[in-house]
Amino acid sequence: MTASSTAVTLDFCRTDEDLDWRRDAACADLPQRFVFTKVPSEAAPVLRACNHCPIREECVAVVDPMRTWFDGVSGGRLWRNGREVRRAA
Ligand code: SF4
Repeated sequence: MTASSTAVTLDFCRTDEDLDWRRDAACADLPQRFVFTKVPSEAAPVLRACNHCPIREECVAVVDPMRTWFDGVSGGRLWRNGREVRRAA
């Protein structure tokens, strides 16, 4: 996954017409480094955005964190090497 040059922070937010729904990402205006962080404290703003994100299910389906060994936030969870990073209670 690579960075987009637009304000949208996720690569899957390309401008292709069939990908328009991805522009609705609640994290679109957040710094990209927070979306792809491995640090739980930096992920907090994105995780809060996930709570009201209208494309949460699509995000997980596209990123497919476990199969892609994803690092970052997707679908309201922080991932590192495709495994969920559990936060302290
Ligand atoms: S579910 Fe979270 S990480 Fe995925 S697009 Fe929405 S706000 Fe961004």
